[in-house]
Amino acid sequence: MIKGIIVSLAIAAILLTIFLLWRREQKKLKAYILPGSTKFLLYNYVPYYRNLTAEQKAKFEERMRDFLARTKVTGVSGVIVHDIDRVFIAASAIMLLYAYPKSRYYNLDEILLYPGSFNKYYDTDGPWRNIAGMVGTGVLHRQMILSQQALRAGFLFPDNTHNTAIHEFAHLIDKADGAIDGIPDYLLNKRTKKVWKERMPWYIQAIRQGITDINPYGATNESEFFAVITEYYFKQPEHMKALYPELYGLVHNMYQPNAA
Ligand SMILES: [Zn+2]
Repeated sequence: MIKGIIVSLAIAAILLTIFLLWRREQKKLKAYILPGSTKFLLYNYVPYYRNLTAEQKAKFEERMRDFLARTKVTGVSGVIVHDIDRVFIAASAIMLLYAYPKSRYYNLDEILLYPGSFNKYYDTDGPWRNIAGMVGTGVLHRQMILSQQALRAGFLFPDNTHNTAIHEFAHLIDKADGAIDGIPDYLLNKRTKKVWKERMPWYIQAIRQGITDINPYGATNESEFFAVITEYYFKQPEHMKALYPELYGLVHNMYQPNAA
């Protein structure tokens, strides 16, 4: 009898502790405030945001706020993280998932900001530094690395199809179903998945033949194709629509499923 009461009390104490910790975490998340320059930066450098209605803009900002409250951004090798970096990172993250109001990046805790490109040994000043971003695996699981220079260039220079942060968030979405294979299960239904799988090789072949203006890196494999084409879609949507209407339609369906 007494043993039963002690066990019950112990369980109640554990549940109460979990609840208090959860409440403290929720309070902390709600208390986070977006940088003061957020609206200015979004209006000037994020066309996607500019095209939203006032109500949608408010929702976009709230999701950015929630993202930044949950995701640590850490400067590495002397990098100082500025508001512009936080805003560009969060804008990239939310653009890709905007049409999915209940989704967030459950597979990410921290973003490491490197000064510039790095090599496969994570050297920021060694030879062969040709990586501008990556989604971590192994010990870097739940982390993303971005070059600060590439992150900013993705937004400050609008006249190309490159955006490193968007590229890496596309990989994270692709990874969420367990495989980085260019087939993002969360953005596809049975029918669109079938079409996407059928059409991807054709476009990769077209890149290899040099008959597109899609970044040749997209021909590396299916996962890079998906990431590269996501950059193109968010950065030059009109251009993509005019040049590759079918491909635009497929990608548009993933990121704006309700618009179709
Ligand atoms: Zn990639």
